[in-house]
Amino acid sequence: MSTATGTTAPPKLSVRDLRLSYRSGRRRNLALRDVNLDVADGEFLALVGPSGCGKSTLLKIVSGLVAATAGTVAIDGQPTRGTPERVGLLFQNDALLPWRTVEDNIRFPLAIGGTPLHEQRERVKRLISAVGLDGFGAYYPRQLSGGMRKRVALARILAADPDVFLMDEPFGPLDAQTRARISADFLALWEQVGKTVVFVTHDVDEAILLADRVAVMTAGPGRVKEEFQVDIPRPRSIDDVRFSDPFRELRHRISQSLRAEFEPTDAGDGRGRLIAEL
Ligand code: ADP
Repeated sequence: MSTATGTTAPPKLSVRDLRLSYRSGRRRNLALRDVNLDVADGEFLALVGPSGCGKSTLLKIVSGLVAATAGTVAIDGQPTRGTPERVGLLFQNDALLPWRTVEDNIRFPLAIGGTPLHEQRERVKRLISAVGLDGFGAYYPRQLSGGMRKRVALARILAADPDVFLMDEPFGPLDAQTRARISADFLALWEQVGKTVVFVTHDVDEAILLADRVAVMTAGPGRVKEEFQVDIPRPRSIDDVRFSDPFRELRHRISQSLRAEFEPTDAGDGRGRLIAEL
């Protein structure tokens, strides 16, 4: 990435030769082998790959929840240690605090960060509105639908305002319609804030709709095997792009790349079993 002064800025997020083996009893199970990935500042990267290939593990390492066996993670060229403050993680499980209202859940990262109270209230109000939850500020998580809870979780991560958003199938458990709606709303929000995102999904359509680039991982132990640039102009809407030629062509190429990870090999390494998952 060249700057006005002609120097080259490091990627926002850089993953180098990342390797992880989980220990189970006396055995070690290699989950990631030599993962290399760069994500530019403000880029939206979608990560797809067969179940068990190490996508969640990769996000956990980047967010500092799990320590890598080898390799490095750097943000703005600086190797990370422990839990980097500038990284926010959103899992499938929305992890809302059940004893706090919607407002207080969203306010939580602002309160921890020491934002003055009047500013906290102002920002929470704007965020509630941005995620379409006007009027629900005083509700508790148990009073909300799955989709609404996701919206609260989304507002809370926006409140934390990390430099890098790591999202692990965040809309996974929702029904198809709710998921499409929340995905479209998230896309519109992201197009305004323009933060760096790594978004894990098993849905190729969702990956293409949202991302600037789609990285495909191999079957486990995973590494990034292929990357696809998504040259579809923004703002995007699923209704506009779904039947366009570039969308269809990309979907075909990415699906082929993924399918190769499920097919049986001559080596008889057992990967053929995964074909049942397609
Ligand atoms: P994905 O997110 O792509 O489905 P994961 O990162 O969850 O894959 O898992 C990658 C591999 O690591 C799988 O073989 C899984 O069984 C294994 N694994 C994940 N978490 C643990 C753990 N805490 N202990 C041992 N093995 C694990």
